[in-house]
Amino acid sequence: MTEQDGRDAAVVNGLLEFVEKEVAPREEAIAEIMEEPRLLYTESGVEHPDVTAARAAVRMASADAGYYQMFCPEEIGGGGLPLRLSVLCWEALHHKYGPGERLAYGTISHWASGPSLLWTEVSEELAEQVRPKVVSGRLAGCFGMSEPEAGTDAWGMKTRATRDGDSWSITGSKQWTSFAPTADYVLLFAVTDPDMVAARKGGITAFYVPMETDGVRVESVIRLFGEIGGREAILSFDEARVPDSYRFGPLHGGFNLAMMGASQGRLYNSARSVGLARWAMERSVEYSQSRHTSGKPIAEHQSIQNMLADMAVEIFAARTMTLETAAKVDEGQDARRELAMAKLFATNAAVKIFDRAMQVHGGMGLTNELRLHEGWKTARTIRIADGTDEILRRTIAKELIRGNVRF
Ligand SMILES: Cc1cc2nc3c(=O)[nH]c(=O)nc-3n(C[C@H](O)[C@H](O)[C@H](O)COP(=O)(O)OP(=O)(O)OC[C@H]3O[C@@H](n4cnc5c(N)ncnc54)[C@H](O)[C@@H]3O)c2cc1C
Repeated sequence: MTEQDGRDAAVVNGLLEFVEKEVAPREEAIAEIMEEPRLLYTESGVEHPDVTAARAAVRMASADAGYYQMFCPEEIGGGGLPLRLSVLCWEALHHKYGPGERLAYGTISHWASGPSLLWTEVSEELAEQVRPKVVSGRLAGCFGMSEPEAGTDAWGMKTRATRDGDSWSITGSKQWTSFAPTADYVLLFAVTDPDMVAARKGGITAFYVPMETDGVRVESVIRLFGEIGGREAILSFDEARVPDSYRFGPLHGGFNLAMMGASQGRLYNSARSVGLARWAMERSVEYSQSRHTSGKPIAEHQSIQNMLADMAVEIFAARTMTLETAAKVDEGQDARRELAMAKLFATNAAVKIFDRAMQVHGGMGLTNELRLHEGWKTARTIRIADGTDEILRRTIAKELIRGNVRF
């Protein structure tokens, strides 16, 4: 083990110990609600307020301990730790706690809902009055880019922000906004110059919009995979007014800001795919040794062994790709191609691994009790969010065609 490995392991182990000590008891206290969808979600599909409150308490405790913001830049009050280590931490959490919306996952800031490098370019007013509350976990947000007619093609967005003296009036709608039903604010992307947008050369600006602003509404929760509630929502903005000081990042420069976030999202999703896949593989190995058919453990049947072996090969490849990509980003290299390759491979591998894990477990693999379906759902979802498979392939191919063919 190198000195660096030792330092990384100390952070990962410290985080896991923190979760056991500070987060697990909080989850235990609301386990009855979290494990029963009929209690977890209100009639409108929003999560139970006790769970939202527990998530806030976890964020704040983690920020106090220095974990929540550890991968954010030092200039905004973060720990400035490298992304490669963030991959190890996300992986470790998902490997240990497995599928579902566990409270443990709120211990590290998610770029779309908490502090991140996106918060470096803000006005003095936001930097002084709002950012400290975001970094300390007291405020949590959501990221409003996608719209009914602008998913993959974000340039198709219709939400408009019009300048009026010292403020902006925003009208339009957003969909698929994760965390929106319980968020305190939305980082909202709106068209500020239609001509620049038409030419695909800027013209989109980001704004910090508190959810209690007049004219902002959560229209409905989007339910996925037959669930009775969820964390994604449709938002509407009807002449919602914010001061110019709530502009986020450069005027007309919102698109690049969003791409910066998406890069972090690609690493995060690759890392959690690896962690969840390891969780599923280990359960499959264990079960295959305890379950007997035809007088022997199913682990002795070659078809079961093939499935286990394929899981391991894919995990090893996905893990190596993700770590190497993160290191490249940390070194300041252009890693567009690698980010796309890692996310494409890791998320697809996780989908296949959860499918195989269900197969190895037979009928048991389909039960709610084993939670394998939850892992499959997460992996399946992230083949669409933060860049679909098709767009990732397009990015990889474009890079190859422009001459980026070396490894
Ligand atoms: C669970 C979940 C959470 C999300 N969270 C957020 C969030 O917090 N904030 C936010 O802003 N957005 C969020 N999104 C939106 C997400 O970014 C979009 O769903 C994604 O960009 C795809 O857009 P779309 O769903 O409109 O699909 P479409 O753009 O309509 O695409 C449909 C299909 O066509 C393919 N396709 C489209 N264009 C091309 C092309 N040029 N070449 C090849 N194939 C193409 C796509 O890959 C896909 O297979 C979330 C989505 C999901 C599912």
